Amino acid sequence: MYFRALNRIFTKFSFTNKCETALYTRSMACSRYEYVKSYEQDDKILPNVWIVIRVDGKKFHKFANAHKFEKPNDENALNVMNAAGIAVMEEFRDIVLGYGQSDEYSFVFRKDTSAFKRRAAKLLSYVTSMFTSSYVLSWSQWMQRPLSYAPCFDGRIVLYPSDENLRDYLSWRQADVHVNNLYNTAFWKLVLESGLTNQQAEERLRGTLSSDKNELLFQEFGINYNTLPAMYRKGTILLRKRVVIGSQDEQKGRQAIVPIHEDLIGNEFWKQHTEILGKYVPGKYVVSSLNRHLERQLAKQLEKEATIAEI
Ligand SMILES: [Mg+2]
Repeated sequence: MYFRALNRIFTKFSFTNKCETALYTRSMACSRYEYVKSYEQDDKILPNVWIVIRVDGKKFHKFANAHKFEKPNDENALNVMNAAGIAVMEEFRDIVLGYGQSDEYSFVFRKDTSAFKRRAAKLLSYVTSMFTSSYVLSWSQWMQRPLSYAPCFDGRIVLYPSDENLRDYLSWRQADVHVNNLYNTAFWKLVLESGLTNQQAEERLRGTLSSDKNELLFQEFGINYNTLPAMYRKGTILLRKRVVIGSQDEQKGRQAIVPIHEDLIGNEFWKQHTEILGKYVPGKYVVSSLNRHLERQLAKQLEKEATIAEI
């Protein structure tokens, strides 16, 4: 009788090795409900693939209107996105490249990353929530008007087996910003300066080619599309670089996330930034060619690093 009771108690607590250990070490709670953990699915990502996480704003059209974003591009609102992208890359060191345009941001993890044991749900949820909270935190540093409601971003993971696939993915996103921005630039010129209604502007642009829209901007508004700010035309690429100021010794340069607005579709970009696809070592970035937006995004990081060093 005594042994049977003991056996029952032992059986109750011995359905997993963890629980046995727990019984003896008293290091963790254990109950008969523990078995539900076995329902969790293994979502470990395959080895040796590029992991791309893209976050995308939910109903940002409405969000942009509610916060009176400038049309067709709001420079400060784009900088809030860039600041959130930088925060994500500061947190997740295995991201080798970020790419942002409009209300979306893509992050490329090193092929051999072991972050969160490559568990898809963990990676995706951490990146998406970090991006969203950083967007909210950065808002007041760039925008005059307060946030009137909480922005929301969805996230997805896409895996690319080859470098060519990864380049094609990024080219796809950059081609997207080109098509949309050219259209939006022409559309808002017609509405805001020529006084057309939204519908009239839509009709005017229906079926036009890129060359037609370029021509329209030049002939009617005296705008050479290619001279508009590169951030609007190319989006923002975030790269981890060792920032060297002027003639400073290269070894003294500080590492930072540098926003650049270059063409990444052609080969030149990949020749210039070989660290992305190669064995990852941050490239060098000389600051003499800083523009004011870049300067501010970079200055914030360098200041923060200096403050942390003082603590
Ligand atoms: Mg969206």
